[in-house]
Amino acid sequence: MSKIQNIGVLTSGGDAPGMNAAIRAVVRGSLYYKLKVTGILRGYDGLINADFMPMDGKSVANIIQRGGTILKTARCDDFRTVEGRAKAYQNLVDNGIDALVVIGGDGTFTGADIFSQEYDFPIIGLPGTIDNDLEGTDLTIGYDTAINTVVNAVDKIRDTAESHDRLFIVEVMGRDSGLIALRSGIGVGAEAILIPEAKTTVSDLVYRIEHGRKDKASKIIVVAEGDEAGGAYNVGETLKKKFPHHDIRVSVLGHIQRGGKPSCMDRVLASRLGVAAVEGLLEGKSKVMVGQINKEIVFTPFAKAIKHIDAAQITPGWLRLAEILSL
Ligand code: ATP
Repeated sequence: MSKIQNIGVLTSGGDAPGMNAAIRAVVRGSLYYKLKVTGILRGYDGLINADFMPMDGKSVANIIQRGGTILKTARCDDFRTVEGRAKAYQNLVDNGIDALVVIGGDGTFTGADIFSQEYDFPIIGLPGTIDNDLEGTDLTIGYDTAINTVVNAVDKIRDTAESHDRLFIVEVMGRDSGLIALRSGIGVGAEAILIPEAKTTVSDLVYRIEHGRKDKASKIIVVAEGDEAGGAYNVGETLKKKFPHHDIRVSVLGHIQRGGKPSCMDRVLASRLGVAAVEGLLEGKSKVMVGQINKEIVFTPFAKAIKHIDAAQITPGWLRLAEILSL
């Protein structure tokens, strides 16, 4: 029989739509197994400052459809220190919390891995990040909503671009990865997509604009914020110099990509993984992230989960597809 009686749950790092659905599933899953569950506010910051609140079925009522996280989230430098983690451990012991579910991305799991090794403390991670950059799950919670938010926004931009015969450069999130740009770019029928993983340069763009179809009323270029061209404004400036007669506009989508109601896909994924995390802890699993691969629940060691998998998702085949469709 498992010794776990009180599970602590926190959200950490960048917020992602579906985090609330995940919290709800962890709480309801814990209650189903007659466990106590404690909400920890502002990620590891709340762990270090003992900012805890007991949770019951009611405390997660009516949140499955809400973006953001009711537990708040934070980036916490103190958790990177031995002293900070010692305080966190003492607070867990003092409050009778004997296992943790952490919802976040690679940084959150790196911290969880270090902590659980130092104190042999049971921790399971839930992949909550819009980046979809974790190994051990086909999708992370929040990614589906984020790319749909981008698609909805760019569809609106396309309407105005088409009406005015404009070229729009749209910047989307992705400091280290062009995954959001590539998938949403294909989804909106972008004329070009600039991502850090591909070698397309602004000169390539110029060539394409000069030699592309002349009958296109509008053009949309999707740029990942981490592209080496330096973001949408830089690309815009270069293109404006080359094509002074073109009506060129720039739009940076920014934080709207993190917000909003989670898609049904994200709600269902978060719900399934949240309950699986509780069950995993009760089965004695720890230092692992729970994910879904080919419809199956899979537990992956933190150290493996945090290895970025962009290489598998941004293949030459995907880049070729985007190019074929932009003709
Ligand atoms: P996202 O992918 O949305 O950015 P994330 O979980 O990767 O989410 P980070 O800000 O990288 O977000 O990490 C969240 C928190 O995890 C950090 O603020 C810090 O408290 C903790 N953390 C990250 N790296 C370490 C580390 N090496 N040691 C201890 N704690 C860490």
